[in-house]
Amino acid sequence: MTLYKSCCYNLFGLLLQVLLNWRWLNKSQWLSREELYEIQVRKLREIVRRAYEGAVFYRRLYGNSHPEINNLIDIKKLPIITKEDVRKVPLEERIVAGTDVSKCVKKTTSGTTGVPVTVLEDPYSAAYLEGLHLRRLWSYGVRPWHRIFRIVVGPAEKVATQTIADTAGIWGRIRTNRVVRLPSADDVRNHLKLFKEKGAAVLIAPPSYFRALREVCENTETMLHLKTAVTWGELLDMKTRKTLSDFFGAEVFDGYGCIEVAPIGGLAWECPTHTAYHINIDSVVLEFLRDGTDVAPGEPGEVVATSLFRHSTPMIRYYLGDKATPMDDECPCGRGLPLLKNIEGRIVDSIKRPDGGYISPYTVMHTLQEVENLEQFRVVQRSDYSIEVQVKATQSIEKVLEEVGRRCNILFPGMHYSIKLVESIGPEKGKKFKIVSHE
Ligand SMILES: [Zn+2]
Repeated sequence: MTLYKSCCYNLFGLLLQVLLNWRWLNKSQWLSREELYEIQVRKLREIVRRAYEGAVFYRRLYGNSHPEINNLIDIKKLPIITKEDVRKVPLEERIVAGTDVSKCVKKTTSGTTGVPVTVLEDPYSAAYLEGLHLRRLWSYGVRPWHRIFRIVVGPAEKVATQTIADTAGIWGRIRTNRVVRLPSADDVRNHLKLFKEKGAAVLIAPPSYFRALREVCENTETMLHLKTAVTWGELLDMKTRKTLSDFFGAEVFDGYGCIEVAPIGGLAWECPTHTAYHINIDSVVLEFLRDGTDVAPGEPGEVVATSLFRHSTPMIRYYLGDKATPMDDECPCGRGLPLLKNIEGRIVDSIKRPDGGYISPYTVMHTLQEVENLEQFRVVQRSDYSIEVQVKATQSIEKVLEEVGRRCNILFPGMHYSIKLVESIGPEKGKKFKIVSHE
């Protein structure tokens, strides 16, 4: 490629890809169920082929014979993989041969799941995800002139360059101009000032963030009106949903996603008619299982997800551990994407303060997870507000404890806390791991 052509591609390439994806996705959502299943099988066949032929992990997993995918039921022949399976193998063994790693960004799941997993976001998947987000936001009535704020879970210094889409040529510039990204670890009071100053219309954030924002509004006697609230990452309970519409006056749209397969509503997203969630079957495969077999529509099942666009680090039949109920009803909106309800995602608890305020779990997570040699931690709060920070460390233990203590002083001012060194931290049997829990 000549230098001129390569410059043009860098400037306009992603923009063009995003627009093409958006155009395709805008059409595909209205296709019939049969047409959508055909697309899904075609994409599944391709991703399984890529994974088997290109990634050491899948070659080993699937054995000597090339898995044949002729219809959707063939996916059942492939083994289900868990977070632990994925984490056990080095990232290199999961990358498809020929991937230009220098053009990819590593994305790691947040520590609230207890077991971080890394995937590679390549320019193709970044542009695809942008298309998915545009399709969704557009259907919610979000337009280019609306001021969008998005809360990003991650350290402040990485927020501006978290995905390829942020830095890629013209598209990166458009995106940075239109969407203000703020780190969840910041002081919410500063965010509130910014929302007021800039006139935030759309806020994309986890439910726990909205609860903290309400708290701050009340404490500072500030009114904040939002047009649209888009939630993701945690269970959106009815109380929080009501807060969002009553307190902020926002129309609320929830999403279901996970970084490894398809983040922020990439798996399923609430229909603009609020009927239920539409599954993106043109982009992922979701299975709902009980004891390894599909549940009937209307029954809850454990979610197993496959990404149809993560070409560099394929995720095929990945066990998420959430429960959700597939439906066979048609949606009044007319979209061909099937429906899902009752998503039991993770519940993220906050630390309650005796004065009625509370501390965001993401602030706790990001303040503590950067401590050197701290392998794992969990924060347990009792009903008398006292806090126990459980710490697992096998190296430089004294230094770890000292640093955790220093950070707890900042995190929990005026509150009683203790730090306990433990040998292992895992989810209680039958329960999901929670970084902050209450006794
Ligand atoms: Zn619908």
